Amino acid sequence: MERYTITRFNEDFPDEDACLQAIVEMVYPAGIPCRKCQRVRPHAKLTGRKAYSCAHCGTHVYPLAGTIFEKSTTPLKSWFYAMYLMASTRCGISAKQLERELGVTYKTAWRMFTQIRKLMEEDGGPLSGEVEVDETYVGGKPRGQASMSPSGRKYRPVSDNKIMVMGAVERGGQVRATAVLGSHVGKALPLVDMHIMPASTVFTDEAMAYRNLKRRGYTHHRINHSAKVYVRGNVHTQTIEGFWSLLKNGIRGTHHAVGAAYLQTYVNEYVFRYNHRKDTAPMFETLKARMTRVRHGRYGVYAPVGE
Ligand SMILES: [Zn+2]
Repeated sequence: MERYTITRFNEDFPDEDACLQAIVEMVYPAGIPCRKCQRVRPHAKLTGRKAYSCAHCGTHVYPLAGTIFEKSTTPLKSWFYAMYLMASTRCGISAKQLERELGVTYKTAWRMFTQIRKLMEEDGGPLSGEVEVDETYVGGKPRGQASMSPSGRKYRPVSDNKIMVMGAVERGGQVRATAVLGSHVGKALPLVDMHIMPASTVFTDEAMAYRNLKRRGYTHHRINHSAKVYVRGNVHTQTIEGFWSLLKNGIRGTHHAVGAAYLQTYVNEYVFRYNHRKDTAPMFETLKARMTRVRHGRYGVYAPVGE
């Protein structure tokens, strides 16, 4: 991945006007339209405001409307710098670290952190080819590993407040992951249907939840983890387990603990990091290209836990 250095960042965005200009160019690539004139018009920036005025009729335009910056009094340069920091660290950065780096209050840092992570929500299409499906448990204090009964039913680890995350990854491709309320392994099949193209080859462990995949039109291979078998030819779930490591290390190393209400947003962040790990464009560019999009609580199949 091309490195986007802090020097280049400061050259590209030296001040507020440069940041606003970048947003205007993204919101109005063909020029600023005036809603009164009903056409693209030259506009002049209003001094000291994040607004423009139509040169013809004087109608004001607010390019930040509907973006994550809309109601913020924090300088755009700080927002851009926060995006830069979140994009240029491999495992992410916490709201606490943002507070220190930006010199803002924790409350402001937390809000920016949450808003920027909305830009990390992915809109990917279904997976196909060879797809590994698995679930894991995140959060809370673990009191032991998930155990497997002889019939292959996976027991939830004994824990105070662990939350199940279901995931699917296309080998060599993208990952999808969703936090699931409770420990309903039965939600595995709807997730598979939602995220995986019919006629794909699906690899899972021997958990009961996955026993009907063949009937649903998938080629299904299972690896017998309870018998301590982890790889049999191409039958394994090591790709998705690689993603689980990224997710868990990221949460443990950067954020320490994650409340149930926000788990899906953290999952989204690491899905984003995984899916863009091989991009040639810097992650900051990807985030920047998304910063004007307006999102209204778009999540996966399941409602985010606790929201
Ligand atoms: Zn006008």
